[in-house]
Amino acid sequence: MTLLASRIASLGTENAFKLGDDITRVLARGVDVVRLNLGEPDFDSAPHINEEAIAQIRAGNSHYNDPQGIRSLRDAIAHHVSSTRGIPVDPAQVVVTPGGKPPIGFTMQAYVNPGDEVIYPSPGFPIYESWVTYVGARPVPLPLREDTGFTFTPDDLRQRITPRTKVIVLCSPSNPTGGVLTQEELSGIAAVIVECAQPDVRVYSDEIYEHILFDGAEHHSIAAEQGGRMREKTIIASGHSKGFAMTGWRLGYAVLPTVEEAAVFRQLNINSISCVPAFIQEAGRVALESPASLPVIEHMVSAFQGRRDWVVAALNRIPGVRCQNPKGAFYVFPNVAGICDQLGILAAHAALPEAARARTSPASMLQMFLLYRYGVATLDRNSFGKIGAEGQHFLRLSIAASIERLKDGVSRITQASTDRTGFATFMREEKLWT
Ligand code: PLP
Repeated sequence: MTLLASRIASLGTENAFKLGDDITRVLARGVDVVRLNLGEPDFDSAPHINEEAIAQIRAGNSHYNDPQGIRSLRDAIAHHVSSTRGIPVDPAQVVVTPGGKPPIGFTMQAYVNPGDEVIYPSPGFPIYESWVTYVGARPVPLPLREDTGFTFTPDDLRQRITPRTKVIVLCSPSNPTGGVLTQEELSGIAAVIVECAQPDVRVYSDEIYEHILFDGAEHHSIAAEQGGRMREKTIIASGHSKGFAMTGWRLGYAVLPTVEEAAVFRQLNINSISCVPAFIQEAGRVALESPASLPVIEHMVSAFQGRRDWVVAALNRIPGVRCQNPKGAFYVFPNVAGICDQLGILAAHAALPEAARARTSPASMLQMFLLYRYGVATLDRNSFGKIGAEGQHFLRLSIAASIERLKDGVSRITQASTDRTGFATFMREEKLWT
């Protein structure tokens, strides 16, 4: 008998958290690390939100509460989702969760049997693929095309839908690409889903970056498409982590197509976390309801947009880098195939022993070279879904860092991009893959 259940081997991870060990090692050598790996705003939660939580704790609101979420917050969420997506939402369809991540696992546990198929964007948030394999489903990555701003066509989706497709995951604005699906694109995608997928298919629409859109764009949800037909198939997931800069508070939610499905998510809450702290939920309600929130969000988004403008232009000036202009979220996702080639990384990867070669990728080797030798923390392509990612050479840089740090980071990447000798020495000395 083995210690760990066999299913643990199918569980993936989120490298944004895992990279911490390498960063600690590099910091311990006295190297200053520019951290462009983090998926959280470099802004604190706003005072009016903080004050509400403090007042609630002082008032003794520190007990167990409804596992589905307190009614006042579910009302606020229902109102917010209904008014921004143009669909009716009953607070009984809403389930509050500790962050926007739990609904991903809840969805896979609630709807997907072993052998069912789940379509999800690739590159995409790594937790989708992790849960798909964990529940024994067949992962069906949906490639996002660099040349069209990391979107996909309705036909790309059509080709992947089969009678076994149980869940289709969408994420807009996207982590890691910053791609945003327009209303026209969502309309085409919805038409394909209604036409080709089984009637009980579920669309998991991850809208956690809904507030972070550039160039005046508006957020659209697939739930609003095809009259009521998509609303009846769509789980809208969002939360407070990104738009309200509340990552550490752990507050998110899902809007389920039916009250019965919401009851299943409630039951999953009961079986895992019991409930989200009520004082946090009250603060989350204030975040959604207070007129003070909008200017705070606008200030943050405008800072992200200014940084995006600078970073994309600067990255595109580095020989060997090609970077699309993200339309939302706070990441850039440059193609670094040229750097991998000019530093000799492609050849070094090809020369690795088979097992080591399978464990890493050229972009991953570049990521480690940048961290260990130039003190810049980024994330490689494989951190966003490994299946089908061979031959794709990208890094994700978070722009949730000050413009000074971003300038420093990009300048270090520029220097690293021609340091062929440095890369060869790094391979010889660090022996990370042997
Ligand atoms: N979904 C996407 C696309 C994300 O990028 C993240 C966080 O990075 C989450 C969900 C999880 O958010 P939370 O921290 O609220 O659990």
